Amino acid sequence: MTPTIPYDADNIFTKIITGELPSHKVYENDHVYAFMDIMPQCDGHTLVIPKIGARNLLDIEPQNLSNLIIGTQHVAKAVKQAMNADGISLQQFSEPAGGQVVFHIHFHILPRFDGQALKPHTGQVEDNDKLAAIAEKIREYV
Ligand code: 5GP
Repeated sequence: MTPTIPYDADNIFTKIITGELPSHKVYENDHVYAFMDIMPQCDGHTLVIPKIGARNLLDIEPQNLSNLIIGTQHVAKAVKQAMNADGISLQQFSEPAGGQVVFHIHFHILPRFDGQALKPHTGQVEDNDKLAAIAEKIREYV
């Protein structure tokens, strides 16, 4: 079994929280920061991260996880409304074997529509103006 790997603050999501890297923010409170995924699997694909450092679901303190999921619920309701979606998929990947690429825990919020499959993760960076417009719309509901 792979040994537990400690949290490493040198990751892109920490830099997004501190403002070292840009992001399309949709919401923040004392505990969480939410922003648009730069390579979305669907319009409205939003990420929610804690302001504390944790690698993934396997090491985050329960109280911090609680704050994170409360913030995620708040943002998910706004995303569903803003995108006029029928539902929401929530994803969280832990460790490379689980599909994790960025090692600062995050939830993916994906607005879903009846009868529509998700696009595969293409690795294609979305148009900046389009992300800005969607973020603005979500902020109206958050
Ligand atoms: P993971 O597989 O770790 O759960 O997913 C990481 C997510 O972060 C992916 O959906 C990817 O598109 C997104 N991502 C990677 N780099 C950046 C970035 O620099 N900015 C933003 N906003 N999202 C990113």
